[in-house]
Amino acid sequence: MSDCLFCKIVQGEIPSKKVYEDENVLGFHDISPNAKEHYLFISRDHSTNVNDMSERNPDSIVHVFNAIRKFTKESGLEESGFRVVTNTNRNSGQIVFHTHFHVLGGEPLKGFGA
Ligand code: AMP
Ligand code: ZN
Repeated sequence: MSDCLFCKIVQGEIPSKKVYEDENVLGFHDISPNAKEHYLFISRDHSTNVNDMSERNPDSIVHVFNAIRKFTKESGLEESGFRVVTNTNRNSGQIVFHTHFHVLGGEPLKGFGA
């Protein structure tokens, strides 16, 4: 998708502060963090949201969560605790239509029963 912001990040046309990279997945700092630590994990393949992703290429969901597991174990986020969020369409507030998983932590998180 030539006009997709996160495809441009995958292709290196737009810079990002990477924290994780493998053949299928990229993890990078969110440009406008909502927690002390806030990263975005994406599949290199374009899809618009998690439903589209599971329809197009269900394996990519496993790839992203394997990446999140490796990153959060190595960074200590698993031990201290983290949250994964993915927004879909208007009511969720989705603004970037390349499926992404927010990984939030580094401090006690509010909401969702916390
Ligand atoms: P969402 O509301 O789930 O679509 O979230 C999109 C996220 O992408 C927001 O948290 C933005 O701060 C983040 N974002 C937008 N542009 C960039 C960028 N160039 N690099 C990193 N994160 C970005
Ligand atoms: Zn894309």
